[in-house]
Amino acid sequence: MQQLPMSKKDTSNATTKIPVQNMVIGKDFLMIAGPCAVESEEQVMQAAKAVKQAGANMLRGGAFKPRSSPYSFQGLGEQGLIYLKRAGRQVGLPIITEVMDPRDVDLVCAYADVLQIGSRNMQNFSLLKEVGKTKKPVMLKRGLCATIEEWLSSAEYIMKEGNPNVILCERGIRSIETYTRNTLDVSAIAAVKNLTHLPVISDPSHATGRAELVAPMALSSILAGCDGLMVEVHPSPCDAFCDKKQQLTPQQFADMMDDVRQTLALRQRLKQFQLKQYENKCCEVNL
Ligand code: PEP
Ligand code: MN
Repeated sequence: MQQLPMSKKDTSNATTKIPVQNMVIGKDFLMIAGPCAVESEEQVMQAAKAVKQAGANMLRGGAFKPRSSPYSFQGLGEQGLIYLKRAGRQVGLPIITEVMDPRDVDLVCAYADVLQIGSRNMQNFSLLKEVGKTKKPVMLKRGLCATIEEWLSSAEYIMKEGNPNVILCERGIRSIETYTRNTLDVSAIAAVKNLTHLPVISDPSHATGRAELVAPMALSSILAGCDGLMVEVHPSPCDAFCDKKQQLTPQQFADMMDDVRQTLALRQRLKQFQLKQYENKCCEVNL
């Protein structure tokens, strides 16, 4: 492992706490939901109302979209930021959105509560340094083919500039598998939780590319120890401008949220069980 002076875990074993509006990332379970892209004011408002009602605590939506083809929808730009901010305000949710270009950092900062660095930009070092100079929390997605070490080194780029508020997001890596869009590296969630004090979240939408696999991978990520999830939700996925196959309907998201709550409760019980076992062992040793 490269030197990780700022991101490596210390002996306290604590997760970094990042306050955003009235929640604390790293303490409260972060549940980000919303459309892949902001398409219109009405679309993002409908999505915002639905995800808020189902229990999300942050709204997502891309205004600057990294697309493989220059002929695909590129996002609404600043108009998209305005719609996203309005929707977040209306339902009382903070917003996260991607910044792709170092020249847009100030603009995106004026609207977003959390900046997203997308997978394709994980090693755009000029962009990492630029967001590192801001005071905004930054969610750093793992690169499509990045090792854990490269991912954490990119987090160091942001922190070294003076911004300690970094959240890591596992979003699947390229593998030999073609049935799924990417392969969710669940082991990376547990590994990075062991290696660093930064909050780690999972994005089962981009990891699988398939709506029917989002909930099972979300629940697996919870048991692997993640501090939150990011899930794409669209009022009408079949009409979406991008990522149609992976976006959940509001009903699918609400159903998933019931399972998320139950799995979080199960995780809590397992933690207590582990603690009990440990206490029992201590007793045995003392005897
Ligand atoms: C996104 O979350 O909007 C996105 C484009 O994801 P990724 O960078 O992981 O492909
Ligand atoms: Mn998407």
